[in-house]
Amino acid sequence: MEELISLCKRRGFIYQGSEIYGGLAGTWDYGPLGVALKKNIEQLWWKRFVLDREDMYGVDAAILMNQEVWKSSGHVAGFADPLVEDLKTKKRYRADHVLEAQGIDPKGMSFADMDKVIKEKEIKSPEGNPFGEVRQFNMMFKTQIGAVEDENSISYLRPETAQGMFVNFKNVVDSFHPKLPFGLAQIGKAFRNEIAPRDFIFRVRELEQMEIEYFVKPSLWEESFEHFRKESKEFFKEIGLPEDKVHELEIAPEDLAHYSKRTIDFEFDYPFCRKELSGLAYRTDFDLKSHSAGSSIDLSYFDESEEDKEKKRFIPHCIEPSFGVGRAILAVLSSAYAEDELGGEKRSYLKLAPEVAPYLIAVFPLLKNKSELVLKAREVFDLLRKIPQFAGRVIFDETGSIGKRYRRQDEIGTPYCVTVDFDTLGENPEHLDTVTIRDRDTGEQKRIKIKELEFLKN
Ligand code: ATP
Repeated sequence: MEELISLCKRRGFIYQGSEIYGGLAGTWDYGPLGVALKKNIEQLWWKRFVLDREDMYGVDAAILMNQEVWKSSGHVAGFADPLVEDLKTKKRYRADHVLEAQGIDPKGMSFADMDKVIKEKEIKSPEGNPFGEVRQFNMMFKTQIGAVEDENSISYLRPETAQGMFVNFKNVVDSFHPKLPFGLAQIGKAFRNEIAPRDFIFRVRELEQMEIEYFVKPSLWEESFEHFRKESKEFFKEIGLPEDKVHELEIAPEDLAHYSKRTIDFEFDYPFCRKELSGLAYRTDFDLKSHSAGSSIDLSYFDESEEDKEKKRFIPHCIEPSFGVGRAILAVLSSAYAEDELGGEKRSYLKLAPEVAPYLIAVFPLLKNKSELVLKAREVFDLLRKIPQFAGRVIFDETGSIGKRYRRQDEIGTPYCVTVDFDTLGENPEHLDTVTIRDRDTGEQKRIKIKELEFLKN
């Protein structure tokens, strides 16, 4: 993890948030390469789950919502983590994490249960001090809207993107008249005032989610649940996660969230331990029902295809696949990080899938001080970057020795390095207009015609 965090900073993937002011806990800034990696992952997700389907509708809802949304959804009353305070230092910890650190499994425990165990076992804080009572800590960031501060001006930074889709359910139905099953999808920021942000970008206070609310006939929920279970796994494969590091965890009935009848967590073997990467929940009709009641707007659905008149109007049930962008990025980066020896030298590199790597191809002139090589390399660079599939994914580099350039590209996970040398210019007429192409993982080089570089499109 330390190596990865330092690589991310050194090479411009991810920086500490507000770093020059000493940072801000639980926030991270994406640098140029981090943005490229993130966008690639998000685009693959959007393509798979929205663009390539006829039953999915994209939305981009406001982060600030009417406070009534969060009352109806249950977040104001119950979106809380168990908090314990070191009575001496006043440092705050998550009670379930405190128990886990003692080898005690907190699954299924209520806040009162946790409190009892901490007291009975006389568990102390990491500084060796006694803990206070375990209490509820609401994780929503509260804020005030407008110039007057009173009860009516309260709002929250959304702690999940999901509610933005439930409140737009009727809008989408009225505009598009979709047939069941259909879904709303959204990628966006969410905020959670985590008691203890940690493990790099794994647990943060400002996060990004890729979520779907998929509406189904109540009797057919299992079909869609299975479908998204398979699709989630396909997505993980597509972004290059090793299959043996992704695990399904069926959540026990006593641990299910209040709105869920069934949930599977997809867990990943992160460098620090196996933890939740994404979730898949069957939310029944809880959300639409709650918002119907809270807003007094009828959020039922009229099913024309239903023959039984009595059953034509109902509240659809909902399947929710929910992905954290940062957790996907951390899974991708940590499983791609590799060290080996190449040409007698140690190297660290990122074995990223070409689909997500910030750059697909790097183009070099063999020598920086030979203008004819630089000119030709620029020509190859321009040719490649104009190919639509390569747009923004080709980089030109002429600084330092060729060996250093290879290492630099290895470290940022560029799958292919293309070098223009004297043979390209015709020094050996047989090789005129050819370049060498080097494979990141093996370090092997081949000579191919410039025209053939287009094969990388596939
Ligand atoms: P955890 O138990 O790890 O706190 P959660 O069960 O509260 O997560 P959900 O509410 O199901 O998470 O959120 C859906 C997804 O959003 C998670 O699977 C995860 O990928 C992501 N996510 C949630 N909280 C965070 C966070 N604090 N930092 C980064 N990603 C998060």
